[in-house]
Amino acid sequence: MRMILVGPPGAGKGTQAARLVDALSIVHISSGDMLRAAVKDGTELGRRADEYMQAGALVPDSLVIDLVLERIARPDASAGFMLDGFPRTRPQAEALDAAMQAAGKQLDVVLLIEVPDALIVERITGRRSDPETGAIYHLTFNPPPASVEGRLVQRRDDTEEACRARLEKYHAETAPIVPYYEERGLLLRVDGVGGLDEVTDRIRRALDSRG
Ligand code: ADP
Ligand code: ADP
Repeated sequence: MRMILVGPPGAGKGTQAARLVDALSIVHISSGDMLRAAVKDGTELGRRADEYMQAGALVPDSLVIDLVLERIARPDASAGFMLDGFPRTRPQAEALDAAMQAAGKQLDVVLLIEVPDALIVERITGRRSDPETGAIYHLTFNPPPASVEGRLVQRRDDTEEACRARLEKYHAETAPIVPYYEERGLLLRVDGVGGLDEVTDRIRRALDSRG
């Protein structure tokens, strides 16, 4: 299965992807994780992406598109993938379509996780992650076990200010790709408000009901 996760920052894309990919036997490809790895490794791409990311702006399409298309062309993605955080603009969506067409493959589903803006800042500012396992926690909504608490880190762009900038970008640049997929009958909408397990169940049911 080849699927895309769309939703505002903090919608739960990374959380739900981690819970779903194993059962679906597909790889989780997060453009944000790939970009953060490039920044950490100090690559040329990382150096160019860093300031956009810290400000909550989008990294230019020309940098992100090549990165993700190369990743989905690797052998471990041939059986399917769950794209998380890409595409985020119309040109990215079009570049993905062109690459899929050239490879003779098709997208199966675009899952939109809907969460109202009013809940986003609290989700983002309470987010913490485990640098050893990559697990995502929330100080209130998904509290970490005491054994890992001491090593958790907060993303540099998980400030209230950068979060508001990201939310604005989401509405201006990313939300417009939703009708692009809806018109092709690929869109599934899932309510992202509720407990983590509840949202996972909704996604599973939505995927099962596609017929
Ligand atoms: P995204 O990848 O869409 O930015 P994350 O999966 O990183 O979102 O989730 C953002 C934050 O919200 C994390 O701290 C996560 O633990 C928390 N979170 C995820 N799903 C839920 C939920 N259903 N209810 C409350 N908090 C959630
Ligand atoms: P979020 O938790 O807000 O969904 P991500 O981890 O997906 O965040 O992305 C973090 C940052 O990385 C974004 O604010 C943006 O600067 C950059 N980024 C990630 N994916 C893309 C993309 N597809 N296009 C442009 N910038 C991206």
